[in-house]
Amino acid sequence: MSDKKIATKCLTEGYYPKNGEPRSLPIYQSTTFKYDSCAEMGKLFDLEASGYFYSRLQNPTTDSVAAKIAALEGGSAAMLTSSGQAATFFSLFNICSAGDHIVSSSEIYGGSYNLIAVTMKRMGIDCTFVSPDCTDEEFEAAFRPNTKAVFGETISNPALTVLDIERFADFAHKHGCPLIIDNTFATPVNCRPIEWGADIVTHATTKYMDGHASTVGGAIVDSGKFDWTKYGDKFACLTTPDESYHGVVYTERFGIEGAYITKATVQLMRDLGSTQSANSAFLINLGLESLAVRMDRHCSNALSAAEFLKNHPKIEWVRYPSLKGDAYYERTQKYMPNGSTGVISFSVKGGKDAAEKFMSGLRLGLVVTHVADARTCVLHPATTTHRQLSSAELEKAGIPEGLIRLSVGIEDISDIISDIENALEPI
Ligand SMILES: *Cc1c(COP(=O)(O)O)cnc(C)c1O
Repeated sequence: MSDKKIATKCLTEGYYPKNGEPRSLPIYQSTTFKYDSCAEMGKLFDLEASGYFYSRLQNPTTDSVAAKIAALEGGSAAMLTSSGQAATFFSLFNICSAGDHIVSSSEIYGGSYNLIAVTMKRMGIDCTFVSPDCTDEEFEAAFRPNTKAVFGETISNPALTVLDIERFADFAHKHGCPLIIDNTFATPVNCRPIEWGADIVTHATTKYMDGHASTVGGAIVDSGKFDWTKYGDKFACLTTPDESYHGVVYTERFGIEGAYITKATVQLMRDLGSTQSANSAFLINLGLESLAVRMDRHCSNALSAAEFLKNHPKIEWVRYPSLKGDAYYERTQKYMPNGSTGVISFSVKGGKDAAEKFMSGLRLGLVVTHVADARTCVLHPATTTHRQLSSAELEKAGIPEGLIRLSVGIEDISDIISDIENALEPI
């Protein structure tokens, strides 16, 4: 049944109980796994046999959830990580070392920006940021002989820029690099970047995949399509012997479909240990089961809320990729014709003060540092996440003082709209 629809895959992939086995995915709450002899366990340590031995590397519960996410994205293999940040870091660090270089879209999540621009730079990995709408000349000029990857977000958080994934994939491939896409905001229900040429897909499962603000987590999916062996020594970490495993060559032993995720699991997880717990993976799986239904509702509610805001006299501007007239509307129709995300940004006339007044007037929408929750929530970057920046710096970062990020939940839309209406009333 490989042609199952995405909503069905959300419920059926990753865990396939046999006769008499639990209907629901069991939580394998065990750090370790038993073998009859040292010889049998030794084969696992040499990667000659596959099997579980220690949950820092792999655990049956987390593996099932990773397999489900791989199926949703149309990938060949996947792994879970302890957070979205760990997924972004591992996805890049798996193929980049000191002296290497990355090209990244400039419109990405603030945490990813800091990771790449500050922390990875300290590790000796440089980055050139390009606008997602840069010219071909600017894009070309960003590449260097040591460029190892191109990074971007399907829909950026919080700017809500939609990436031209096919164009980014073409540029990456022309320069012998994989394209890594953070697909957190769209989810595989709305967009599957691999179908448009992306090679690796990452997620903060913390957001829509969990969907209930209960569990921090991340995932990395490999398309299995990027041929690491085609580029000589460029990806030597995958195509030449790993001395920490008695000289295993990942592309030879695991094929181009398995090399990348196997290396990230047995090498990065072994050494850095940003593991997802079985308990957390179980909760993420519960979220995944209803992902398609929730995304449908998030998107229809967000579109209604965006249309209401657009027509309201007290609103200065609204940004929502699926809203007719949005700068990214056409591109959204190409990549996400059935819906994009549940997040809207807008500004109330009157700037910062009006924004604060509006937010404290909400009753249903709660002020939290989060998005993609089943329950509506709001954030005012200028007074919270970005409060250290001056007005001028905020403008430069593409976050005007009045910008409000509204993550539209799955409540009844009439309640969401009357909440917004009531909060606008006294302004
Ligand atoms: C939240 C987020 C992350 C980071 O995820 P954490 O689980 O908070 O570490 C990465 N990318 C995007 C797009 C996000 O929204």
